[in-house]
Amino acid sequence: MEVSDLRQVLPAGEPAYRAAQLYRAIYRQKVENLIQISTLPAGVRDELASHAELGLPELDRRFESIDGTRRYLLRLADGRTVETVLMPEGERDTVCISSQVGCPVDCKFCMTALMGLERSLTAGEIVGQVLFVARDNGLLADDKRFNIVMMGMGEPLLNLANVLKATRILCDPEAIGMSERRITVSTSGIVPKIEELGKAEVRPKLAVSLNASTEESRQGLMPITRKWHLKDLMEACRAYPLRPWEKLTFEYVLLGGVNDSDADARRVVRLLANLNCKVNLIALNPGPGIPYETPAPERVAAFQEIVRRSVPCFIRKPRGLDIFAACGQLKRNSA
Ligand code: SAH
Ligand code: SF4
Repeated sequence: MEVSDLRQVLPAGEPAYRAAQLYRAIYRQKVENLIQISTLPAGVRDELASHAELGLPELDRRFESIDGTRRYLLRLADGRTVETVLMPEGERDTVCISSQVGCPVDCKFCMTALMGLERSLTAGEIVGQVLFVARDNGLLADDKRFNIVMMGMGEPLLNLANVLKATRILCDPEAIGMSERRITVSTSGIVPKIEELGKAEVRPKLAVSLNASTEESRQGLMPITRKWHLKDLMEACRAYPLRPWEKLTFEYVLLGGVNDSDADARRVVRLLANLNCKVNLIALNPGPGIPYETPAPERVAAFQEIVRRSVPCFIRKPRGLDIFAACGQLKRNSA
């Protein structure tokens, strides 16, 4: 909730500054329970606690990987669960959060797609995942810097209003006080929403899941391309108003023998010509029901070599494979 929402929750007749007190208590002091907010008079606390809930997600299960990755299954107020992943990386940890329960975008290589969409998350549930993981790992306590990527379950741009509201709360110095530079939202390419995102005053960095080098191949792998064509997606990327410090990121999941040839790599380079961007390659994380194979490491390296001549290009190493925490695998929660 933003301050204006909190005003509506307070008992009638309370002074306006109470909403700001409540806001700071929830996000800065990270209280779990309305009764704990010591800056509010006891009467207001009791009244609030009797009719309002913070609605923070609760721990359902936690899985630890041998590589340090932690996967959390978090329970929402309605009993549904979402997955949130912490990936420690030396100096800087990355928290991967979900934007929806399931996903309506039917990408053929993604396990979340097999769930369909159950519902979108509220802004509170998006921020709540960050608060939960931050508290569980002392991330905010010692001012340890961390990055947030909206690359868990769901298509964030199909829940853009809540994603933007959550971003405002995360970036507000009165709340979590993160920098926009440390939050990234990843999309399968919802063209009109990319334009809308570009107009938001406070917004995360943008990553686009490209995953194919031709219109036809992309339509096969990501059927959403039939609605929003690759050509229009690339046009939206070219028109996107980057801030002076910002680059676009393109993600490319490599599927053995499908989209990983030298010719694909050369076409990717042509698609990205004159864009201020970088590319992250991800070798497919296989899973049951996914009809593709992971390419050999040499193929991944050869693909990278071709792209790297023109655009910065990195290989994203899979994290938490032993606990099914790698990208696209979050649906699998029976580990
Ligand atoms: N819906 C958004 C964000 C969540 S998916 C999007 O599609 O961008 C996050 C990333 O995981 C995307 O780049 C997607 O292409 C990738 N991904 C999905 N399934 C995968 C799999 N099985 N192996 C590797 N990466 C996968
Ligand atoms: Fe949804 Fe992203 Fe998976 Fe596609 S890759 S189904 S958009 S979560």
